[in-house]
Amino acid sequence: MILDTAKYLGPCACGRDHELRTKLVVCEHGALKSFDKYMADCGLTGFRTVIYDTNTYNLPSITHVPADQEIVLEAQGLHSEKGLIEDCMTRFVQKPDYVVVVGGGTLMDFGRYSAWKLGIPFVAIPTIVSSDGFTADICSIIIDGQKKSIPMQAADAVICDIDVVAGAPRFLTIAGVQDIMAKVISIADWKIAHLVSGEYFCQKVCDMAQEALDLMTKCAYDLKAGKEPDIETMAYTQMLSGLTMQILSNSRAASGSEHLVAHLVEMKPRGFENAHGLHGECVGVGTLLVAEAYHKLAQRETIEVKPFQPIDEAWVRYEFGDLADGILKENENDVLASFPAENLKKAWPQIREVIAQIPSYEELNELYAAIGAKHSLEELGIDPAVKEDFLDISSAIRNRLTLARMTRLIAD
Ligand SMILES: [Zn+2]
Ligand SMILES: [Zn+2]
Repeated sequence: MILDTAKYLGPCACGRDHELRTKLVVCEHGALKSFDKYMADCGLTGFRTVIYDTNTYNLPSITHVPADQEIVLEAQGLHSEKGLIEDCMTRFVQKPDYVVVVGGGTLMDFGRYSAWKLGIPFVAIPTIVSSDGFTADICSIIIDGQKKSIPMQAADAVICDIDVVAGAPRFLTIAGVQDIMAKVISIADWKIAHLVSGEYFCQKVCDMAQEALDLMTKCAYDLKAGKEPDIETMAYTQMLSGLTMQILSNSRAASGSEHLVAHLVEMKPRGFENAHGLHGECVGVGTLLVAEAYHKLAQRETIEVKPFQPIDEAWVRYEFGDLADGILKENENDVLASFPAENLKKAWPQIREVIAQIPSYEELNELYAAIGAKHSLEELGIDPAVKEDFLDISSAIRNRLTLARMTRLIAD
């Protein structure tokens, strides 16, 4: 599949003029054989520096694209840290006209950061496609010991050779399925937030997220039926998902309350001390928990609301311990205070319709179990007792309007 992103650009019914840095996304078998042609199509000429790590350079399936300079970083211990990236940049024999990066998410940040710093384009050649970061503009980088997710620069082109990425281990492919299928929740959260608070919403971007979700759902059911993974379609859904982030300059369409499990696993509050798991696996379990909780809420035909109360400090200190100060800070300008609670009550019938579109817990659980995907808190080393307060705990860590967060406005 070749995705000319021009169709997403320009004035939109949502009132915005959409922009994308990424001009071309290719997901095809043997795509690297035509790499020079794709670069010419994108108007990328001049001195080309290609960055690999020792793993991606030696991949049996890789085609080494022509380069004016190749840099091969030691894969051992490689992580996205400002100092390491700046070290890598000192190896440039001259300022490149553009940088090409061959690798996964970490290595992409090397390209993204150095291109941004030098004011030049970068091109991504993914060697694995279980994440949607390749077409996004977010750099997850450690600066002064702190991990930050900073919008930096998206790739001008992403050239994904299916013959290269098809070699990824099955568990990574499955985690990628779960990361995209999380959109059953993130799309619902976005629609509900729009209904209740009037938060910005774009149907066109929502349709892109829905397309990614629908295609990946079909891929998942094909896996369940015993078919071989459709890597080309899976890769395409990841690219589409990343583009929604790039258009919106945030992850609204791709990440809702279900994604917060992945953050909790990194943060390790009470009950998560021994938590572990790939991003997609955590998100997959989050999807199940949130689907179950939302369907339970939707059983209520009507709701009563209560006035906004700031988050309870004692509760935050109990649940989050050392992390409490950061959580309290995140909740300072609580998005729940930005609209009348009555709106939630008024929109309840439409909210129930949105929830009705989410597959049931049983349906998702059966699918995940059948394809060998993680589907329980125990599998992630998380105390199953957290399930009780799951919506409260997870929504406290991010000041984004989700239905999970809105439950603080619903009377018992
Ligand atoms: Zn729009
Ligand atoms: Zn994700």
